[in-house]
Amino acid sequence: MLKIAFAPIYKYELPKGHRFPMEKYELIPQQLLHEGIVSENQFFHPSRLLIEDILLTHTEEYWNKLRDNDLSAKEIRKIGFPVRPELIERGRYISQGTIECVNYALENGISMNIAGGTHHAFADRGEGFCIFNDFAIAANYYLNLKVLKKILIIDLDVHQGNGTAKIFENDRRVFTFSMHGEKNYPLRKEFSNLDIGLKDKITDNEYLEILKFTLPKIIIDFKPDFVMYLAGVDVLATDKLGRLNLTKIGCKERDRIVFETCKNNQIPVSVSMGGGYSERIADIIDAHVNTFRVAQEVWY
Ligand SMILES: [Zn+2]
Repeated sequence: MLKIAFAPIYKYELPKGHRFPMEKYELIPQQLLHEGIVSENQFFHPSRLLIEDILLTHTEEYWNKLRDNDLSAKEIRKIGFPVRPELIERGRYISQGTIECVNYALENGISMNIAGGTHHAFADRGEGFCIFNDFAIAANYYLNLKVLKKILIIDLDVHQGNGTAKIFENDRRVFTFSMHGEKNYPLRKEFSNLDIGLKDKITDNEYLEILKFTLPKIIIDFKPDFVMYLAGVDVLATDKLGRLNLTKIGCKERDRIVFETCKNNQIPVSVSMGGGYSERIADIIDAHVNTFRVAQEVWY
């Protein structure tokens, strides 16, 4: 059964006027139930991430600053949200959601988090709406336990997974693969194990050809025992920040390529949602819901 991490704390009340589409964290589960793609018993509430597990990835200095409300104005500006204790709490539940997703994926082949994919968080700082790096936290958790030995992170959000790339820069147990808009944020890119910088306005066919060509090669060469997939939907042509030209069908096909490649190679996958900033919230929800739909089609 496809298990999905979700808790009401995922939706955080932003100050009026903030343009981040926070409501998606409530609307995605509603839509999944409404369409009958999943049922109520497939959702699970993650518990709260332990501090010792934060510190496997993030520095003590950064955690202390978060805990003591001691970030500078500049550091808060980089994150892009007003950093209140509730937001930090939220981040702990979401990251723990990814940890618990990995466990479910090991049992069932796949598991998904309604939020997460906070790939712009570095060990010592947050940025781009990201405080904790959920993939790094979950990866380090299982590597530390020696449950996983080789993890492939497939980051197909339109923005480079700069925090993740930097965290695992010298860690041979994790292969970071990021396909992103070359001219998009972050302007200064980090080095993933494999970066593919895409030109603006790239279309479905060109995009999917690159993915179909590249992903199987990475899997043959690296031989991961686990995949973490960041399925951001800011690759859509309708996205305000994306700069690419993918349709919803193309975006769904992208997810299918990832899932079928993993399933055919018997590699379990945990998925986090990542970004999505289309003008119409319905476009964002539709595209995210498609990821769940394809997961159900491929595995069940
Ligand atoms: Zn993004």
